[in-house]
Amino acid sequence: MLPHECSINTATLGHKEPLKIVIDRVARHGFGGIAPWRRDLDGCDLSVVAKQIKDSGLEVSGLCRSEYIPSISEEHAKRAFEQNIRAIDQACVLGSACYILVVGGLPTGSKDLFAARSAVIDGIERLLEYSKSVGMPLAIEPLHPMYAADRSCVTTVGEALDICAILDPDGKKETLGVALDVYHIWWDWQLHANIEKAGKEDRILAFHICDWRVPTRDFLTDRGMMGEGVIDLETIRREIKKAGYLGLAEIEIFSEELWKEDPEVILQKCANQIKIAF
Ligand code: ZN
Repeated sequence: MLPHECSINTATLGHKEPLKIVIDRVARHGFGGIAPWRRDLDGCDLSVVAKQIKDSGLEVSGLCRSEYIPSISEEHAKRAFEQNIRAIDQACVLGSACYILVVGGLPTGSKDLFAARSAVIDGIERLLEYSKSVGMPLAIEPLHPMYAADRSCVTTVGEALDICAILDPDGKKETLGVALDVYHIWWDWQLHANIEKAGKEDRILAFHICDWRVPTRDFLTDRGMMGEGVIDLETIRREIKKAGYLGLAEIEIFSEELWKEDPEVILQKCANQIKIAF
């Protein structure tokens, strides 16, 4: 795979520089897109950012990421909802392909995973009403089950597709779909069937890549560079393409080790590794 087929998630560069500089770097290395985090946008004039991205020839493969939905109080839930609505508006200005939903796990003090899942379904339903009205697709990103307690009680592609079917039965990826991140889903024995299903239902909005290192020394910040680990990236990519996803592959690597490097070196490594891994 070549850089123009990929997008750079700004977390890969460790959020060390202003977005303006990151956009320039990503474009100069020939990548096809960028996926900013909401924190990158703080203090920026959004229309200036959108113009710079467009003028640089980059697409926006996604805006990361939602506030968690299950909440300890009505007040928290209301604040999270308002922040998500604001972020959906930001995603629209940026011309993002989707707004990434990392739905959240158990609220502090709770052990009720069923209640959390039910809050997620209700919360996405409310967001969807707004996102549909402004034309911004929502992408549910299932996370690896090791994060079920604190980051996402939606852990498989199958579950994410079930939520799409419940909330948006007649819809497609223009309204609600899934973000497929290899780090979270590679282990799932039903993955291949569910990629095919996601394709048939036209729900694939994003494809995130990195690798799973053995051993993994930290389950949040030790993701591998593509080709460094055990994920069968080539097969997963082939199946996602066959399922009809023609968008960018977003390089999203949280890695303390990588963040020690200069951003130029990180981007060069990304460009080299995608050629080797795919
Ligand atoms: Zn991801």
